[in-house]
Amino acid sequence: MHPLLEKEGFILDVDGVICRGRKPIMEGVEAVKKLKDLGKKIIFVSNNSTRSRRIFVERFNSFGLDVDENEILLATYATARFIARERRNAKVFTTGEAGLIEELELAGIKVVDYEDAEYLVVGSNRNISYEIMTKALRLCLNESIRYIATNPDRIFPGEDGPIPGTGMIIGALYWMTGRMPDVVIGKPSEVIMREALRILGLRAEDVVVVGDQIEIDVQAGRAIGAETLLVLSGVTTVDNLNEKIEKFGRPDYILNNLGELFG
Ligand SMILES: [Mg+2]
Repeated sequence: MHPLLEKEGFILDVDGVICRGRKPIMEGVEAVKKLKDLGKKIIFVSNNSTRSRRIFVERFNSFGLDVDENEILLATYATARFIARERRNAKVFTTGEAGLIEELELAGIKVVDYEDAEYLVVGSNRNISYEIMTKALRLCLNESIRYIATNPDRIFPGEDGPIPGTGMIIGALYWMTGRMPDVVIGKPSEVIMREALRILGLRAEDVVVVGDQIEIDVQAGRAIGAETLLVLSGVTTVDNLNEKIEKFGRPDYILNNLGELFG
């Protein structure tokens, strides 16, 4: 039996572990089913800042995976929880899309125009405009505004090639103002990982953090002091593994895919 099967909880990355975009990675999907049969506690953690949990549940269901909203922690939801805990009924202006706005409002946060905002929440927006950037810029220049970013990703692997991540907006604001976010929620930040532990009700030593990128997933696991498993079913492959290890250090465990937990 693989030693990681002794763990009570599994904090799993989504893209590169159980799917590539809309396509399932069957070894990953089957492994999650087996982990659930063993009674393991599971939470999926994704830096996605444009979707709500509901949208993810539908995608998992289409893979034949029975997952409920409490088993999914997206940067959108983690951002909403973080702000709601910091200030009840906070007023925020966000650059983000409907999925982020939905989660903010569900957490009791008021999404307002920039003149009334106490927070600037930067998240990806595939329809970002000059007007939105102007408002974000003006808030960024105001030191009394708390600036939160959903995730630090610069580039995402799109289905037909690389696409800009939230870093497009963080980078533009930084270039204009010299200001970086006060808090970044998504991996490799420990903020989203602490939220995952809180939801699981487990300590870092009781979980393993699984993902396909050392500098994101493994780094996030290390940030909370958890053991880490790198799978080679996504961005990191046998071809670039050694280069990544040299640059970002060795994960505790490496497998070709999550299914190899079961031999
Ligand atoms: Mg990934």
